[in-house]
Amino acid sequence: MAAKQDYYEILGVKRDAKPEEIKKAYRRLARKYHPDVNPGDKSAEERFKLTTEAHDVLSDPKKRSIYDRFGQYSDNLADAAARGAGPTSGRAAPGFDFTGFDWGSASTGTGGSSSSFRDIFADLFGGGAAKDKEPPRPQPQRGADIEMPLALSFEEAIKGLTTNITVNRSEQCSRCNGAGDIGGPVMVCATCKGSGQVQRAGGRLRFAQECSDCGGTGRRRPPCSLCKGKGTVPKTETVKVRIPAGVETGSRVRIPGKGEGGRLGAPAGDLHIITNVGSHKYFTRKGDNIYVTVPITVPEAALGAKIEVPTVEGKAQLRIPPGTQSGQKFRLKQRGAPSLRNPGARGDQFVEAQVTLPRVVSEETKELLREYAKLNSTNPRVEMGLE
Ligand SMILES: [Zn+2]
Ligand SMILES: [Zn+2]
Repeated sequence: MAAKQDYYEILGVKRDAKPEEIKKAYRRLARKYHPDVNPGDKSAEERFKLTTEAHDVLSDPKKRSIYDRFGQYSDNLADAAARGAGPTSGRAAPGFDFTGFDWGSASTGTGGSSSSFRDIFADLFGGGAAKDKEPPRPQPQRGADIEMPLALSFEEAIKGLTTNITVNRSEQCSRCNGAGDIGGPVMVCATCKGSGQVQRAGGRLRFAQECSDCGGTGRRRPPCSLCKGKGTVPKTETVKVRIPAGVETGSRVRIPGKGEGGRLGAPAGDLHIITNVGSHKYFTRKGDNIYVTVPITVPEAALGAKIEVPTVEGKAQLRIPPGTQSGQKFRLKQRGAPSLRNPGARGDQFVEAQVTLPRVVSEETKELLREYAKLNSTNPRVEMGLE
C-alpha cells in the first residue's frame, strides 16, 4: 500500500463532492471490487478495502474534515485535533495504519467475513434478506463481574475488616427491563450503520467486531430512551464489604450481586474485591506463617532465658535455651495468621534469634570480658586451620 492514499481519487470524486456523490461512487466501486464478485483476486480485494476505507472517512463529516485538514485520518488524529493539536505542533501525526486489518477473518466466530460482506452487499443493493431480517429478541443475560482492588494494612489483613466502598456499577433499566428497546419499527442500527460490525482499535491495529447493539444484524428497534439501548443504567453505589481475617495480597473476596446489572430479569454479576496487603515493620508473612527476627543479649543466648516476643495477636512467652546461636529459629505453634481456607485454624510464628553485641564502654565490663576470654581461650577458627 502506498504511504498516502487520496481518498477522493480512490472514489473518483471531486474534493467538494456532496455526500450523495460519495455514496454513489462507493456503491459503484464496491459492487465492482467486492470479494464475492472477484473471488481470489487480491488486487480487487485491495481496491475494495481502499474504497471502503475512503468511504468510511469521507462519508463521515467529522472524519472528512480531519482528512481534509491533515491529508489522512486516524482516531488518534481526531482526538489530537479535538484537543487543538495539529501536524504543525511539532509532533508527527500518528499514521493511518490498516496493515493489521485482516479482512480474511475480520468477523470472528461463526458466520465468517463472507456472510457479513454479503449483508453489506445486500444493503448496498438495497434489497435482499438483510432488509427484512428481524433483529434477534434480546435474551436474559447475567451481568458482568466487576473487579476492584482494595488496599489493607498488614494488621487489617490479619484481623479482618468491614468497610464501605463506592462501586460504579449498573442496574437493569427500569424502563425497558433490560431489553434495550420497548418495541417499535425495525430500523438500521445507528451504531454500526447497518453493517453489523464495529471497528475497534487495539494499539496500532484495527479490527472488526460484531456490533453488540444489534447482535450483528445491522437492524434494531429504536433504543430505549432511558438506557440508550444498553439495557442497563449506570449506578454509583456504596457497598458494605466484609473482608475476612487472613487475606493476603491477591486474595479475592466475592460480593454476590454487586457487579453489573443483568438484563431481562437475569441476575447481576458479582463484585470481586482483590486485596492488596501492606507490609509490616517487623513481621513478614508467608502463607499463614509469620516470621519475625528478635534480638537477644549475649547472656540470654549463653545462659538461656524466658523472653517476651511480639505476635500478631499480642505478646507471647518464648524460652531461649542455653547456648542459643544467632540465626536459630523457634516455632510458636498456632500464633501465625488466621487461615482463610481452614476457618478457626492459624499458621505458626517463627522467631529467629539474633544475638546482639553491646557497645562496651565501661571499664568494668571490659575487665569482665577479658576475664571471660581467659576462661574460654578456644579459638573458634581452629577448624579453618588457624590458631
Ligand atoms: Zn449494529
Ligand atoms: Zn432501557
